Amino acid sequence: MGLMASINEEVAALLREYAELLGLTGGDMFRTRNYERAAKSVGGYPEDIGAIPDTALTKIPGVGSSIAGKIAEYRRTGTIKAVDDLRAEVPPGALLLAKVPGVGPRRALQIAGQLGVTSVGELDEAVRSGRLRSVAGFGPKSEERILRGIAVAVSDAALREALRALPDGATEDDIYAVLAAHVPRAAGADDGSALIRAEGLRGDLHTHTDLTDGIVSLPGMIAAAEQRGYEYYAVTDHAPNLVMQRMTDEKMLAQRDQLRALAGSTGMVLLHGTELNIAPDGSVDWDEDFLSGFDMCVASVHSSFEQDRATMTKRFVTAAENPRVNVIGHPLTRKIGRRPPVEADLDALYAACARTGTALEINASPDRMDLPPQHIAAAREAGVKFAIDTDAHSLVDLTHMPYGAAAARFGGLTSADVINAWPLGRLEEFLRKGR
Ligand SMILES: [Zn+2]
Ligand SMILES: [Zn+2]
Repeated sequence: MGLMASINEEVAALLREYAELLGLTGGDMFRTRNYERAAKSVGGYPEDIGAIPDTALTKIPGVGSSIAGKIAEYRRTGTIKAVDDLRAEVPPGALLLAKVPGVGPRRALQIAGQLGVTSVGELDEAVRSGRLRSVAGFGPKSEERILRGIAVAVSDAALREALRALPDGATEDDIYAVLAAHVPRAAGADDGSALIRAEGLRGDLHTHTDLTDGIVSLPGMIAAAEQRGYEYYAVTDHAPNLVMQRMTDEKMLAQRDQLRALAGSTGMVLLHGTELNIAPDGSVDWDEDFLSGFDMCVASVHSSFEQDRATMTKRFVTAAENPRVNVIGHPLTRKIGRRPPVEADLDALYAACARTGTALEINASPDRMDLPPQHIAAAREAGVKFAIDTDAHSLVDLTHMPYGAAAARFGGLTSADVINAWPLGRLEEFLRKGR
């Protein structure tokens, strides 16, 4: 088991690094995404990939002939030439700097290449000493953004490490203990016996399939969700304005037909939804007529993270006021230690959600945990309802619900606050938004 885990892990790490290098060197976005997916898939593959014949490697989801060739090469030679070649093109430290929030690939290459900066500490020093300004295109605004990014990376590092150190199958209590140790606790969010637990959740309302960036088919995801004992399950693949996902009206409608056809083969009630993109002005993909065909809609910010506070607040309020938007997905778009939360007037966001019957998501991905646990109690106080969702892109992701439940418990939520703890009828009424 140890050995088997290690070759899958080794290959996954190399594929992930290749994706990162492609992203850094301006490689094709779709190709980068394919390698990311393959890395995820290989890392979570239940069989020892060392024992799979070359010709059968393509049966691993997300592994096509080109990636299969690289895996075979690694098994034969212990290296992948394409990865080595790209590594040689990139100055030392660039890959690491690109992961600092607010830096990004282009700037990471500039900073590493022109200043010889190879660590976060050196980057901090380069900004504070004014050396960064000697690089073309860097001024006070980028200095400020990078210092803010370093602060996020540093302040979240302990939480990120503690979450990453949890074993697969960590219990809700293990996760709760990590939150209690690392997240500032809001006053008034005290413990109590009626608090929500993962067992109390009746369904998942934000999940993906391989129609967009998930790695598992629709029937595969549904079968795995059913094993979790859910009463209902929503499929919410990405909408067209996230161009990389190549969604079309036709694909979405075909998926709906497929989902309706699967309804008879499962005890769960299947909801056909989508994850809309909240545009910079608060509008979303598709017109009212097309949106009315969905059972529910999640809407999330996937772009223009750097908007000023007033604009971002208006963006959220406009989205909440949309009668078809039921859940604001991963509301602050933070990735722990990787991407800072967006700036918005949270009180205004909570008020808009409470007034319009729009739930805020508690995204259970251990990389996100968003709405951040420290904000949940205040949102509840403002009358907000919540959806605790995995945002699953794989079968493993479906098991992350305890992270969301632990966060909800940390924020003092009971089943009355959480729409996917409700019976279907009550959930459906909420989803109608008074229509
Ligand atoms: Zn999203
Ligand atoms: Zn999603």
